[in-house]
Amino acid sequence: GESVTVQELAEKMKKSPADIIKRLMMLGVLATINQEIDADTAGIVAAEYGLEVEVKVELDAEALLTQEAEDDPADLAPRPCVVTVMGHVDHGKTSLLDAIRQTNVTATEAGGITQHIGAYQIEHNNKKITFLDTPGHEAFTAMRARGAQVTDIAILVVAADDGVMPQTVEAINHARAAGVPIIVAINKMDKPDANPDRVKQQLTEYGLVAEEWGGDTVMVPVSAKTRQGIEDLLEMILLVAEMADLKANPKRAGRGTVIEAELDKGRGPVATVLVQNGTLTVGDNVVAGTAWGRVRAMMDYRGRRVKKAVPSMPVEVLGFSEVPQAGDMFYVVPDEKTARSIAEKRANRKREEEFKAAMPRVSLDDLFKQ
Ligand code: GDP
Ligand code: MG
Repeated sequence: GESVTVQELAEKMKKSPADIIKRLMMLGVLATINQEIDADTAGIVAAEYGLEVEVKVELDAEALLTQEAEDDPADLAPRPCVVTVMGHVDHGKTSLLDAIRQTNVTATEAGGITQHIGAYQIEHNNKKITFLDTPGHEAFTAMRARGAQVTDIAILVVAADDGVMPQTVEAINHARAAGVPIIVAINKMDKPDANPDRVKQQLTEYGLVAEEWGGDTVMVPVSAKTRQGIEDLLEMILLVAEMADLKANPKRAGRGTVIEAELDKGRGPVATVLVQNGTLTVGDNVVAGTAWGRVRAMMDYRGRRVKKAVPSMPVEVLGFSEVPQAGDMFYVVPDEKTARSIAEKRANRKREEEFKAAMPRVSLDDLFKQ
């Protein structure tokens, strides 16, 4: 594995070597300034200082495998955009997702959709769009907290009869924090008391100014009930996506994010993942958080078995050793041994951190007092 000298670690962490040596002593490691310590120990020292994020990522033995290597521009290909629907409760997020799904799935297929994996893909004008219906506000926040950026575009659903509400504002803030462009769907236009101008007016207070009012936010009046405006909305999504020029490299090993996961009685751990770069193939060895495994089978959103999942495709994955967490990144690694060892190291580290968090802090100074 990788290692680092005490001196190097001290420099990276902007601490004195003496400080590092003292910390190591407290961990039961006697080290000199030029001594090499392994990445895991270094990570633990870094964590002690609360610097885990930066330093750990840099030092982890697994970093080599999990780091995003540069793609050869020649290998990059356009990928579908990934869209999340956000908004206040009861403003019609679920209805809108259903309306989009139904509008774009042929009648014969509609009966075949029994599987629900919290994500689906549609085709509009021969272009695919991926919709995630899991990340409600909490899941979205949890994923963001873990550094996972899964969406390219946020659809902000605002009911035309109800207007901007607290969760509408929250959604705007989340999308902003993630740097994700917002398209506003002014929903429930079929209602007699629908007032889209009032919605537009209210949104200006949050910096979202409609294009027709001289701003740059796309706002589309829709009705999930009558399906009015759904096609326009899809048009607009494709337009915004086109401007973002989304690309990925399907030739590399697959990586992405766990969208949701659960323990299925019959099938064991089941994870819905979104492939964000590369191609995930049945038989691949994968790691996600402290879970590892070999992809035994994959299903698309319709529950159909697939052998490969390309960028922006959501798939259900069977074969994980345990249930990974929503927001965990997954990576394809070269072999089972690597997968297992990375996952086990992470599990150990997690246990260690939990153990330490539960332990009263004792410093050297405390030991030598009186
Ligand atoms: P969510 O909480 O944002 O997912 O909202 P839902 O999709 O569950 O919708 C909340 C309620 O609004 C349900 O009773 C829907 O039938 C209704 N609803 C959603 N969209 C429309 C719409 O376009 N028109 C009308 N009239 N009702 C709608
Ligand atoms: Mg809902």
